Amino acid sequence: MKIGFIGLGIMGKPMCKNLIRKGLACHVYDINDNAAMELEREGAVRENSAQAAASHGDIVILMLPNSPQVKQVVLGEAGIINSMRPGSILIDMSSIAPGVSQEVGRALEAKGIEMLDAPVSGGEPKAIDGTLSIMVGGKKEIFEQVKELLLFMGSSVVYCGALGAGNTTKLANQIIVALNIAACSEAFTLAKAAGLDPELVFQAIRGGLAGSTVMESKLPMMLAGNDKPGFKIGLHIKDLNNALETAHEVGVGLPLTAQVMEMLQLLKADGLGDKDHSALAYYYQKLSGVSITR
Ligand code: NAD
Repeated sequence: MKIGFIGLGIMGKPMCKNLIRKGLACHVYDINDNAAMELEREGAVRENSAQAAASHGDIVILMLPNSPQVKQVVLGEAGIINSMRPGSILIDMSSIAPGVSQEVGRALEAKGIEMLDAPVSGGEPKAIDGTLSIMVGGKKEIFEQVKELLLFMGSSVVYCGALGAGNTTKLANQIIVALNIAACSEAFTLAKAAGLDPELVFQAIRGGLAGSTVMESKLPMMLAGNDKPGFKIGLHIKDLNNALETAHEVGVGLPLTAQVMEMLQLLKADGLGDKDHSALAYYYQKLSGVSITR
């Protein structure tokens, strides 16, 4: 089976490496040639356009930042819709707006090309380990065809419903992650301001009801003052924006999401858009003058 892989950033690069390690022939493309060259050294074939990478694939995987990039790569002037073979499958693993997944899927279907939306959760460490959580939307029979392939990149692969359902699930995931990081920032600012050692507070509560995967992954970074991404504030703003828009389309409000969104926007305006989303702790530091960093 041949794979076209487009988008070799923090996530796409290790995900593609895992496919190569499983013996799959991967044709890769990224506008950043250095990323593609790194994959070439791992055994991939480096292509000079998205169309070229997609033309080789029985399956084409995208791992791009957001909806505009996915639309451009698939439907744009040099879009892969014109180089993918009928009967081939596009798996978009980027986190994008569910409505855009459906729009792209309709255009591909008219050309006899199948599509799944399959965003991931778990971040770079789980992308490297091949233990991502993958949430999938699209036709169930197409999902069954590619499930084994997805399990080369993830340890949990769950079918969520029709096309767009993967991304709607991911939006729910991103709301929970953002609010959890904000809650950790707020709670540990209180503990530090009250004279406690944040490390001891972490040890005391991590095993109880407040403990979470987010706390385990992000709190040590916050306490160490390590804001290297990981997952950039700018990308989380993108996800919360997609969540708010989707919520308004389906007629619900997201008051807590809106609040955390504004905190992230202020950090971005302060030049921190490329920091890890755990840098949300700096919002509280700026307001209170209390740093939870050791
Ligand atoms: P990234 O910015 O590191 O990587 C995106 C890659 O896409 C870059 O290498 C960029 O050069 C490439 N690219 C952009 N436009 C392109 C185009 N037109 N043609 C070809 N390549 C193009 O982002 P990332 O952190 O790898 O995230 C990718 C997706 O995965 C995003 O939707 C993000 O929300 C999601 N995600 C990220 C994480 C994380 O922890 N980083 C976790 C889960 C999901």
